[in-house]
Amino acid sequence: MRDLITSIDSTRLGFFKSILDEAELACFIRNETTSQLTNIFIGPLQPTLCLVNDADYERASELLRPHQSTEASFAEEWLCPACKESNPASFEVCWKCQTAKNE
Ligand SMILES: [Zn+2]
Repeated sequence: MRDLITSIDSTRLGFFKSILDEAELACFIRNETTSQLTNIFIGPLQPTLCLVNDADYERASELLRPHQSTEASFAEEWLCPACKESNPASFEVCWKCQTAKNE
């Protein structure tokens, strides 16, 4: 068994699972529903998409990569107005030249 993706968004994980199901890779979602007891004693567990067979890992990440990159890199990155470098959404200033995001 191997963890593939952890996300608080279980809808997204369900979508990824359906892609793997279609490719006939055995997988399941762990911690999809956490009990209140668990949340109290060890904190909320994030749902994790797991592969049953470790050997499927590369194939699975290849199948999911296009779906992950569209969300992560295109929607959230911003281009620095000064030097045109692309920055992750979490950065408030350009990592390269320190120009603020909104200028
Ligand atoms: Zn810059």
